[in-house]
Amino acid sequence: MERLESDDREATVTSWHSASLDGVFDRLETDEDGLTADEAERRRDEYGRNVIRRGESVSPLSLFVAQFQDFLVYLLVLAALLSLGVGLLPGEEPNYVDATLITLILVANGVFGFVQDYRAEQSMAALRKLSSPDATVLRDGEKVTVDASAVVPGDVVFLEQGDAVPADARLLSATNLETDEAALTGESTSVSKEPGTTDPDAPLAERTNMVYMNTNAVKGRGTAVVVETGMDTEVGGIATQLREAEDTETPFQREVDRLGRRIGYGVVALVFLVTLIQLSFTSAGPITILLTGITLAVAAVPEGLPAVVTLTLALGSRKLLDRNALVRRLPVVESLGSVDTIVTDKTGTLTESRMTVRRLSFGGATYEVTGTGLEPDGEFRRDGEAVDPDRLAPLLRCGAVCNDAERAPDSEDEEYYGDPTEVAVLVAAAKAGLDGDHERLREIPFSSERKRMTVVADEGCGLPGAADAPTAYVKGAPETVLERCDRIVADGEVRELTDERRQAVLDENRAFAGDALRVLGFACRTVEDADADADAIENDLVFLGLQGMLDPPRSEVREAVADCRRAGIRVVMVTGDNLATATAIGEDIGFDPEGAMTGAEVAELSDAELAEAVRSVEIFARVEPEHKVTILRAIQENGHRVAMTGDGVNDAPALRNADVGVAMGVRGTDVAKQASDVVLQDDNFVTIRDAIAEGRGIFDNVRKFVNYLLSANAGEVLVVFVGVLVGAVLFPRAFASRSEALVLTPVMLLWVNLVTDGLPALALGADPKADDVLDRSPRGDDEPVIDTRMMVSILTIGALMTVTGLALFFFGLSRTRDLVVAQSLLFTFLVTIEMVRIQSIRSRYDQEFFSNRWLVGAILVTLALQLLVLYTPLHVFFDVVPLSPRGWTWIGVAFLAFLVADALVSRLYDRTVADDRRPGSPRHED
Ligand code: ATP
Repeated sequence: MERLESDDREATVTSWHSASLDGVFDRLETDEDGLTADEAERRRDEYGRNVIRRGESVSPLSLFVAQFQDFLVYLLVLAALLSLGVGLLPGEEPNYVDATLITLILVANGVFGFVQDYRAEQSMAALRKLSSPDATVLRDGEKVTVDASAVVPGDVVFLEQGDAVPADARLLSATNLETDEAALTGESTSVSKEPGTTDPDAPLAERTNMVYMNTNAVKGRGTAVVVETGMDTEVGGIATQLREAEDTETPFQREVDRLGRRIGYGVVALVFLVTLIQLSFTSAGPITILLTGITLAVAAVPEGLPAVVTLTLALGSRKLLDRNALVRRLPVVESLGSVDTIVTDKTGTLTESRMTVRRLSFGGATYEVTGTGLEPDGEFRRDGEAVDPDRLAPLLRCGAVCNDAERAPDSEDEEYYGDPTEVAVLVAAAKAGLDGDHERLREIPFSSERKRMTVVADEGCGLPGAADAPTAYVKGAPETVLERCDRIVADGEVRELTDERRQAVLDENRAFAGDALRVLGFACRTVEDADADADAIENDLVFLGLQGMLDPPRSEVREAVADCRRAGIRVVMVTGDNLATATAIGEDIGFDPEGAMTGAEVAELSDAELAEAVRSVEIFARVEPEHKVTILRAIQENGHRVAMTGDGVNDAPALRNADVGVAMGVRGTDVAKQASDVVLQDDNFVTIRDAIAEGRGIFDNVRKFVNYLLSANAGEVLVVFVGVLVGAVLFPRAFASRSEALVLTPVMLLWVNLVTDGLPALALGADPKADDVLDRSPRGDDEPVIDTRMMVSILTIGALMTVTGLALFFFGLSRTRDLVVAQSLLFTFLVTIEMVRIQSIRSRYDQEFFSNRWLVGAILVTLALQLLVLYTPLHVFFDVVPLSPRGWTWIGVAFLAFLVADALVSRLYDRTVADDRRPGSPRHED
């Protein structure tokens, strides 16, 4: 902004905060009515998109290059070059073939790595884009919602409690507006904002007439004209200093990295031994020995593993998005699988949030309201007889005036903006021909703590004896409103609110709530001074009556709650609504009403009592946001992992503290969304169940390929190591005659590593979730990706592959006395057994062979490639021979031996550990 000051054109104007409003409008060539859509479009071209660029984005090229920036790859290239170089020495033959093949295989490996990384990167970018907030702006004089990135200087924006401020803007109007500027100034208390001008020297924190990008409106509402966007904003100026908030390294990845390093050390030791044996027992030259060692290292170290973990999580987050759950932080995909308690709101999450006022209580009588949905057609009936709506006017008018919802202008179908509770009240008034269009003198906004709101309007309430003067209209939770009344409308008169009458109202409230109605109380009073203290205005009120609205449970919610229970997940309802309504609806959905308690009761309990209560209580009513945190903590301290829902500004702490914070995409405020890990795009509880199921499926997939890759690598390395050992002892002559003196040449090893780690591993990430994911109990928090079972499985599989593979090799060698034939046999056996191995791992998760067509394709391609190597002239380069039918028979026998041994070992292992097997683990956890 100050950029302009130094500009000669604008020498006279000071900064945006100290200029006069007209000056600001002039500079921006705009006014209170904002911009036209065309002008906004033009400015977007001029100023660019309203986004903060953080750091350099990774170009595909650098991502590709990064694939080769690996110590092992450097070593391998060096060794290949050396083998060429040595060939130039007199008496040696340069090994072009090996060098070329190694390079080609390395490039292919790099391409796979690149594809994995690139897709992961793309998915992450798409997710970031999806989670960017919306902004409400004036365009062509109409209020429209646009993506925040489309806001331009000169736009007039609307801010409401819970909204993220889309750009730096100068305030035009404000009602109790407060913003949280911690992200910008570090100051954690919210700042009161109002229009006006501030001192030119005022520091950022004192510019109370400005609102800034990356801060949030936490209270009230306002309008403002955008002065700076994107990198020109205050936060844009410090963007380079901002740390990327997302922690992209997930616990899995850390675990896998750690494991990779450990494997690395083991491999170095093995390589050292293999080299030693080669040196002492064979005639291999030093370059060959070096090449062998390095290749072995390349084959053994699971370099691709972290990338595949990220990719699987990113692919998983796409699946979750298809299910309407937007994942804001990648690690959450893992946490979702281990959630064992869901703490959920009621309104809108368990229920449809399509509310209709069904019953009124006014002047001592009860009325039924007919009509469906948002249509303004309906009658008011008493004892089945239609009554004149005018009789109910004070109650209905109060609801219409004290209301922030609006009917969409010129909409053909009935359409409303605003909170469904308020829409319902507005529609009820419309049925009596009333609207809320009166001049507003004052507004004391609703909050979950206050449970009421007040509007002072220049309009009398129409009660007998009331003056036609400014009147405060109050609506809110009945007991909260009633508490502030001293009079009541009874028998057509305003009377004193006696204890008896108070009790009658409370009884009526309970009766409404008992029928699962959500109940609001209404009251009013004339006020002399609309600017008086809020507490004074909301006191000595006249109680008008009750409106009870129906909010039916969502259709599949019953089933979803039952599914969660079956999956070992407790579901707890925490609602701001009253106890009777909450229990009535809760029972209907399948919650246990036993012990249901209110937020106030929770606050009374000692820590120990609370810890005990949260073990069994399934319904908490009249809960305020701070109680939510208390309840959450108590459940967590009992050792549970909790997914918690929230939508309001004050839900942010609970969302942040939950293991999985779930914000509502439709109803939720930007503040809640920013504090959450997952945003439900349809606000539906059913989506939480689906997300957890997907999360479990994704965790399974990570386990499947960690198991697959590690056991494959273990097999490859052990085969070479043990092979060299045994060969040197059993067949010294045959071994000494070949310079490699190995059961597999470096090129073969690299090939096996490429085809097994490549396509099939990639396709495994796309495996669908098992049918029974919701039939197991949740994964324990301390349960690692690679538990003892899997470790044992990896090692036994590696050992079995080695034993059967080498038996095949030495059998072939002894029968044919030809090392190349023996190597070809083992080479082919390893590639094919890996393909079988994938399916055997999958079958433990009850996956059908054909359920993942990507995998079927990957396996077929891999096998085809292997045949290509064997039966086309390519075999010359790989130094293999085409296998005869006899060779295939031997491979078949080795296969059978492997499968039988595998089955026997699993059975044996299952029997020994069956007792302490977690009930929740898949039936034959690896
Ligand atoms: P949930 O927590 O399940 O979403 P809720 O919407 O009832 O339920 P809150 O928004 O905290 O929770 O509301 C608490 C209470 O405040 C409601 O039960 C109702 O009595 C009252 N209330 C809700 N909305 C309004 C409103 N717009 N104006 C006045 N009072 C309201």
